[in-house]
Amino acid sequence: MPQADFNPLLNLQSLTRFDLIQAEHITPAITTLLERAQAAVTRLEQDHEEGIGASWDNVVEALERGTEPLGRAWGVIGHLNSVADTPALREAFSENLARVTEFWSSLGQNERLYERYKALAASAAFSGFSPAQKQLLSNELRGFRLGGAELPESVKPRFAEIQEEQARASKSFSDHVLDATNAFSLTVTDPDHLKGLPEDVVAAAAQAQQDAEPEQPGWRFTLHFPSYYPVLQYAEHRPLREQLYKAYVTRASELGVAHAQGQADWDNTQLIQEILRLRQEEAQLLGYPDYGHLSLVPKMADTPQQVTDFLNELCQRARPYAEQDWDALKAFARDELGMTDLEPWDVTFASEKLREKRYAFSESEVKLYFQQPKVLEGLFQVVQRLFKVSIKPDQAAVWHPDVQFYRVEDASGQLRAQFYLDLYARPGKRGGAWMDDARSRSVSPEGGVTTPVAYLVCNFMPPTGDQPSLLTHDDVITLFHEFGHGLHHMLTKVDVSGVSGIHGVEWDAVELPSQFMENFCWEWPVLQSMTQHLHSGEPLPRVLYEKMVAAKNFQSGMVTLRQGVFALTDMQLHAGFDPDGPVTALALANAVNDRIHVIPQAPLSRWINTFSHIFAGGYAAGYYSYKWAEVLSADAYAAFEESASETEGTLVSPAGKRFLEEILEVGGSRPALESFIAFRGREPEIEALLRHSGMTETAAA
Ligand code: ZN
Repeated sequence: MPQADFNPLLNLQSLTRFDLIQAEHITPAITTLLERAQAAVTRLEQDHEEGIGASWDNVVEALERGTEPLGRAWGVIGHLNSVADTPALREAFSENLARVTEFWSSLGQNERLYERYKALAASAAFSGFSPAQKQLLSNELRGFRLGGAELPESVKPRFAEIQEEQARASKSFSDHVLDATNAFSLTVTDPDHLKGLPEDVVAAAAQAQQDAEPEQPGWRFTLHFPSYYPVLQYAEHRPLREQLYKAYVTRASELGVAHAQGQADWDNTQLIQEILRLRQEEAQLLGYPDYGHLSLVPKMADTPQQVTDFLNELCQRARPYAEQDWDALKAFARDELGMTDLEPWDVTFASEKLREKRYAFSESEVKLYFQQPKVLEGLFQVVQRLFKVSIKPDQAAVWHPDVQFYRVEDASGQLRAQFYLDLYARPGKRGGAWMDDARSRSVSPEGGVTTPVAYLVCNFMPPTGDQPSLLTHDDVITLFHEFGHGLHHMLTKVDVSGVSGIHGVEWDAVELPSQFMENFCWEWPVLQSMTQHLHSGEPLPRVLYEKMVAAKNFQSGMVTLRQGVFALTDMQLHAGFDPDGPVTALALANAVNDRIHVIPQAPLSRWINTFSHIFAGGYAAGYYSYKWAEVLSADAYAAFEESASETEGTLVSPAGKRFLEEILEVGGSRPALESFIAFRGREPEIEALLRHSGMTETAAA
């Protein structure tokens, strides 16, 4: 029995005692763990001062031993903050957030630490290191270098200033987007103008009006997505769509509503220029021609040119299909909706009508086939057959009674990993779905293996009464996706924890296993085995399945070009673009659109002024990674299709063993391209993605 002063956050050797953790454990535990971590850092600094030779054990292992407990405990606290939020926990979390963040970022700036890593890389022992050890060292050194550690002393203050200015500018950018979004609302007073809108949208609009102006009857619409998008999609009253569309695409610009009313200056045009200028300066200080090159250093793609070529090729291949999509849409709008000229605010509306006409099926009917326990069983079957492992229920303390715990064993019954599965939405739990690292694989100097543990979190509808939880097909895809991340983390065989599992995997390759797993949600035999109608007990019928597949690829040509415009604009703004030159960022964006897309850019659109992914998020010179990772995952899955068994499909393909050994088990211990080539026997190709999206001739048949 634990004693009264037992602090579970200081005792994480085995599985976390979620049943014992209280908010009051947090601050004392973090204080102790920060002290221990700092002591380990100080030890390394002293070793440097005293000229003690650098070894794997006194540098990498020593730092790992000293800081891992802090990382693990803080991971547990962050996890609880996401899945079991309480006021006391939130307070303890915020109380400690700054000092923990500060500790980790101080490591990257620590010059004596950098010297230790350099000494280790230059030591005689280096040549005897394993590839994983070498990879970790190279990642660490790169991190220091990109953090400015090599810069001359005279430049360092400016470098630090650039980081701060960028952070501030990005924050202002997203504040402006939010403020400009909030500033607009439109109240409809004529019920005729609501025609076509779904009932729940109308009810929400009535409620919004009631909340905002109780004395004024009507329906209030805003530029927040759940209010804005259904209007574009369903509202038959064209002027309503037009008004909302125009307000939406001019947010945070000189044409914005707020701007016109002289309320406040939320125009992001200047900030875009400023951010691009700062990034350019940062890149040049570090010795790169532009930010595009800098951004790609830790990524799988090599140069901006390679990314641009890739995107251009993809768009060129998608273009004929996009033209067909566009022609079909215009013809449909003319013949069946009586619209002769499709304005920008008509495209979503007409597309929705066409989609309904071609592929109408009811989401709620589909849900009745996907009973959560049966789906989970189906997922486990897929994984077990593909990778020859078994998944069994296991025991552990959990943070909520709904949470399940499982173990993964290999064919010989050896424990490989364990995972928590937290499937249902509930109050106090953050939305969305994710996989997180609860414990990484590592091997002690004595040879003791610590197996990985993962958190898999979703937000599905909980069961009600005696009815099981029912999933949409999108939910099923989400579950497979996150489980793919989980497999990457759990099936690793790398002993160096800094590059085991998903650690150290290039950012633009990390979605490979997750998107790969999604493919099985579209396989007829897999769907047969994991569906069972709630009432009839029948599996998913073929007719419904075919409609789902067709709907998936609806307008995939136009969708691909749209993504291509975003990604090309992003890369071109960060590579070879002069923020102070004669061409504005907006002009560049419009030129990219008009070169790539089949739909001309609306002249008043200021969409880059709200492109938060690249100006206020982590996607600068990285937006391409969505498509890049899709190419990898589709091409990897194609290896399974090519070698599928006539009778048993892809699940018994010999590609499973290779995918396990060359991709999942090696994790971040070598470059993703090397892993891909080892698995596929060649570099990635875009054919499979085009085929899966219905954009090849055979697929169209
Ligand atoms: Zn993902």
